[in-house]
Amino acid sequence: IVEYKDVHKSFGETEVLKGIDLDIFPAEKIAIIGPSGSGKTTIIRMLMTLEEPTAGDIIVDGRNLWKMKKHGKMVEADEKHLRSIRGDIGMVFQHFNLFPHMTILENCMTAPINVKGENKKEVEQRSIEMLERVGLGDKIHNFPSQLSGGQKQRVAMARALVMRPKIMLFDEVTSALDPELVGEVLEVIRDIAKNDDMAMVLVTHEMDFALDIADKVLFLDDGVIAEEGTASDVIEHSENPRVQEFLSRFR
Ligand code: ATP
Repeated sequence: IVEYKDVHKSFGETEVLKGIDLDIFPAEKIAIIGPSGSGKTTIIRMLMTLEEPTAGDIIVDGRNLWKMKKHGKMVEADEKHLRSIRGDIGMVFQHFNLFPHMTILENCMTAPINVKGENKKEVEQRSIEMLERVGLGDKIHNFPSQLSGGQKQRVAMARALVMRPKIMLFDEVTSALDPELVGEVLEVIRDIAKNDDMAMVLVTHEMDFALDIADKVLFLDDGVIAEEGTASDVIEHSENPRVQEFLSRFR
């Protein structure tokens, strides 16, 4: 469903991604692990169209994300092209990014109605369903400020799910939470991973969680995928000294 072909990204003089090749298959659950600053977040931000690659291609469902054909020539993608692909992708951020002046129901409804032009009644019903699914059915008329961090993060997930994306991206979604709230958020992701057939890419520092839900784990080190395999191959049996050193911090 997604293909990265020799993708590079620099910020100024610094090359953060140094040639990423990656296939994401439909329904596949991928965890990206690796040291701070290795480029994990940048990989998924590019798929969400929040960063543009310096070189290389990202293909989503056969469409080149950053380039489009115009009069038979490949040119830089315009906003309409980006928006049409972005509609297939949902992202949950470390800092929930909810709209503070909207109730949590309104937070879930705004994008499908205003970006996709969907019917309000249908979106409302779907939003309530998703909020119930993440355990917040009794809070739909509350404002974000009235919720705990874990609850806010569950709203962010419901909001992404209401868009019915083909791919969901999770960027260290538990790392801003108090430890006692991490479990409830992981539980919701686990439920999505086990029951939905959308592809998922998670940047995470929760190794046991990655081991539990990921079909594939990528170890990113200094801008390259230094190791790739099943969760068990990478997290339990890797002989790569860099992987071992990284994982030793979690034991
Ligand atoms: P962490 O686990 O700490 O979140 P990461 O592996 O997700 O790290 P990235 O956030 O992808 O790493 O960042 C990789 C490098 O790129 C870092 O050195 C970061 O400072 C740099 N970087 C990221 N975004 C920008 C930006 N917009 N401008 C300049 N430098 C950036």
